[in-house]
Amino acid sequence: MMTPWFAPILWDGSYNIDILNAQFHQRHVRIGLTVFAIKKYTVFMKTFIETAEKFFMVGYKVNYYVFTDRVKEMPNITLADGRQLVVLEVPSYKRWQEVSMRRMEMIRDNSSKRFINEVDYLVCVDVDIKFTDEVGVEILSDVFGTLHPGYFRAPREHFTYERRKASAAYIPPDEGDFYYAGGYFGGTVEEVYMLTSFCHSEMMTDKGNNIEAIWHDESYLNKYFLYHKPTKVLSPEYLWDDNIEVPEVLKRRRSVIVPKNYNAVRNR
Ligand code: UDP
Ligand code: MN
Repeated sequence: MMTPWFAPILWDGSYNIDILNAQFHQRHVRIGLTVFAIKKYTVFMKTFIETAEKFFMVGYKVNYYVFTDRVKEMPNITLADGRQLVVLEVPSYKRWQEVSMRRMEMIRDNSSKRFINEVDYLVCVDVDIKFTDEVGVEILSDVFGTLHPGYFRAPREHFTYERRKASAAYIPPDEGDFYYAGGYFGGTVEEVYMLTSFCHSEMMTDKGNNIEAIWHDESYLNKYFLYHKPTKVLSPEYLWDDNIEVPEVLKRRRSVIVPKNYNAVRNR
């Protein structure tokens, strides 16, 4: 329930949501949820927004920031009071890996330009997920990451960090706390700016050297968190993969990965 640097690891039962809601409502906290729906990934949008309306930060001011190259394919969904959908038109990149990685740059740029004036916290997630249980202000903190569902019980040797010294995402074999998921992180706008700025510039360094980290943006994120420890860590309750057998310790699944046909959505 606690990292060795005393950051809470969020499992069901480790917090009292009523106390937290009282604190966060007192601060009139505003939350931005960033999501990318580039090219064929627009197919995930409807479920994403509909389930977020049911479960994500209910009762708070929420801005959905949707980055897309296909504005016309955005679903028209009526949102609850205090919630709005902001569509940000962005270019698409050819390779799906690059689409995924360039999210860092776009979140960085919009953090200083726009998010800083509109919200207090950002939550940055993949679009190919659906919310299936409550996600509230318990997750909010200066900077947070999420334990990858595939590795939360794995020993460090099994973590799929970047292991080539030539890459800026390199992590030595005797370092690394957790394996964090690339598709679920956040924090204050200032902290997310610093995180995305680091990841993007390290990616660009690698690009200049003709190298790309093994798991793209996820590898750079793991490097960032090694030397800038998160102030909260979300358990895999927050990002579960239903292909994995549900262990005893997992009492709730708050969002789950939507299965996808890779050939039908990638590079389309
Ligand atoms: N993405 C996108 N269009 C693409 C490829 C990726 O919008 O063509 C975005 C989308 O938000 C997606 C995220 O990048 O959820 C990460 O890609 P993906 O989900 O395919 O990676 P995985 O979770 O399978 O590793
Ligand atoms: Mn995904």
